[in-house]
Amino acid sequence: MPPDTPATTRFDALAVKRQFPGLADERLHYLDNAATAQMPEAVFDAMRRFETDARANVHGGSHRCARRAMDAYAEARSRVARFLNAASSNEVVFTYGATAAINLAAYSFGQSLQPGDIVLLSVLEHHSNLVPWQKLAERRGVVLRFLPMTEDGRIDLDRVEEEAAMGCRLIALTHCSNVTGAVTDVARVVRAARANGARVLIDGAQLAPHTPLDMRALGVDFYAFSGHKTFGPTGIGVLWGRRELLDSMPPFLTGGQMIQKVTLEGATFRDPPFRFEAGTPPIAQAIGLGAALDWMLTLDWKAIREYELRLTRRLLAGLAQLSGVRVIGPTDTASRRGVVSFHVEGCTPDEVCRALDMRGLALRGGYHCAQPLFAAAGVDGAARASLAPYNTEADIDVLLDALGRLVGRNDAARMAAGHAFPAQG
Ligand code: PMP
Repeated sequence: MPPDTPATTRFDALAVKRQFPGLADERLHYLDNAATAQMPEAVFDAMRRFETDARANVHGGSHRCARRAMDAYAEARSRVARFLNAASSNEVVFTYGATAAINLAAYSFGQSLQPGDIVLLSVLEHHSNLVPWQKLAERRGVVLRFLPMTEDGRIDLDRVEEEAAMGCRLIALTHCSNVTGAVTDVARVVRAARANGARVLIDGAQLAPHTPLDMRALGVDFYAFSGHKTFGPTGIGVLWGRRELLDSMPPFLTGGQMIQKVTLEGATFRDPPFRFEAGTPPIAQAIGLGAALDWMLTLDWKAIREYELRLTRRLLAGLAQLSGVRVIGPTDTASRRGVVSFHVEGCTPDEVCRALDMRGLALRGGYHCAQPLFAAAGVDGAARASLAPYNTEADIDVLLDALGRLVGRNDAARMAAGHAFPAQG
């Protein structure tokens, strides 16, 4: 291979795709990965092994199945810690998803906040990283402030230092927008927070599916993500938290398994992470997530990054050729991931997605749980294509072809009705 051959030529998306039973139908073009990604065979295998060889509860029990279940559950936690490069697996709390993880942080960490303390968010946040803080504000008199959005759909960090200095106790931002695909400069956010004694929570639901992470290097205090977007099962997610912070936080949900001692008058609680895992956890799902993240660690993410950007560039260039199609977010590939939302003039996002579905294209349309973002952009929802390593150029080309026909039909209808359509990038 010549020295300047790009790594992309070495990444074999079809070999990855063959590992996914859900993608066996060649007519399916699955581009809804930001909502839920498909699962590789390795994850089905791990979950099936647990259900057939080790199915039992993970709390206590001295029989062999219980021991196997406890070992597998502990191993799953270690696998998550490895994926996150966490200092210890005790920093990994299993939740049922990113939403539950952020609710946990908002409730438990939120108990340490006082009336007037500021939590800094952005207008790009998913409702999961907005509504729990609104509820905290109602409960404790905390004040929410918001970083605006730039013209090209990024969190505007221009004033983050200033905002962090205004009595801010926590900055809670998305790592990657689920609408625009823009990636946040977390290092800058962390510097601003540290300079002012604030904590940082990052909603990693959209970045974790695109790369293994490094909690020690990232320097944040909390990180949340979901299993079903990282090639694992639904019903499982993670809140990673710094040990000393988790130690200082009260439980969120209470009940069995998370206690040390219970009397009729009260209870004492176990150390983290168990303090935050009340009741029987989603055991098979945790094991499936561990297998999914291990599977991710077998891939060449540098090559995938280049590959994904190549597909994203192809998609953005194709969309720019279509009249009446407006991309919501960056139209270049700097600091972004393969999540591309677009509005088609004259069609609702749902109509676009239904038309695309006729061609085997799976895309999602609507507000993507980010209504304030759409209000700020002045757009009434969007269809969204989101990429995973098993997507191919063919997926992009079929999408562009189908959109071209849809836009062409719209144009023709407009011409027939006697008014022309303004072309937009
Ligand atoms: N944050 C972001 C940025 C997301 O994209 C999502 C899922 N769409 C969530 C949080 C919530 O994830 P879940 O529904 O798995 O809890």
